[in-house]
Amino acid sequence: MYFRKFAMAVAVFAAITVAHAASAADKMTLRKVTDDVYMMENGRGSSNSTFVVTGDGVLVFDFDVRTAPQVLAAIRKTTDKKVRYLVSSHSAGDHATGAWHFREDNPVYIASRPQARDLFMQEGREFQQRKEAGREGYKDAELVRPDIAFDGEMTLYFGGLTFQMTLEGHGHSTGDTTVYIPQKRVFLTGDLLDTEIHPGQGESSGVYYSVVDGWIRILDNIMARKLAVDTYVPGHGPVHVGRGVADLEEQKRYFVTIRDEVAKMVQQGKTLEQIKKELKLPGEFAKYKRASRLRNFIERTYYQVQEKGW
Ligand SMILES: [Zn+2]
Repeated sequence: MYFRKFAMAVAVFAAITVAHAASAADKMTLRKVTDDVYMMENGRGSSNSTFVVTGDGVLVFDFDVRTAPQVLAAIRKTTDKKVRYLVSSHSAGDHATGAWHFREDNPVYIASRPQARDLFMQEGREFQQRKEAGREGYKDAELVRPDIAFDGEMTLYFGGLTFQMTLEGHGHSTGDTTVYIPQKRVFLTGDLLDTEIHPGQGESSGVYYSVVDGWIRILDNIMARKLAVDTYVPGHGPVHVGRGVADLEEQKRYFVTIRDEVAKMVQQGKTLEQIKKELKLPGEFAKYKRASRLRNFIERTYYQVQEKGW
């Protein structure tokens, strides 16, 4: 009995060690989006990070405290210019915690106001808790909060490029922010677009903030701008260089499909548990990775359908 308990404890310890090792080993791979625009793709399907090199310095979009050192190393290999600006898409830990790693270059960190608020409230607290718990990546780092927070839109003219930042509203998270760089025909979506993977639920310190109708509305808003964009750079998943608006259309189809399927099953009187078990997605989405996120998303959608209809 004693030995069994001991063996179990060892097994649990080993599992925890493996889990930590797995997160520590998240490998970021450099992908060229277009000249001077690079996305670092997270090999496990966690958050990507993008950097743009200009004659006056570098702008970094999204930075996870666990993987930002790899992003900085890639920047140092690519250019001798300093990191001048940081922009985060939303306040989640996998996108807005890594600013500290760029401190040597003393960049200005820009975010939307809802993000800044989160970083002073629940996200700030979560960072502290993870640090105190000795979590990989967090234990030796500090949370660096934005220097500038904006509502609506903000345009940064930097290094001969225009960075049009838009607070798109509440879709994936409490305040999704995008960046359009017209000269590069590139649009950075953050988690409003995940490719080949089930989208995340806008987790912020253990609470899920994603709203399906808001997400669809935001995608419609972006598409209605009819921007000159070759590539929408995703928050998670591989970048589809040159696929353009088809990526946004696919993401919208995903949510419309789930919303309509859930609504149909609610009308049939099915329970959440039945819907979670029975809902099948068409082939183009069935091949997406991280299937556990789908069941969680069905739950989000179920409550939103109950609340607002469809
Ligand atoms: Zn994310």
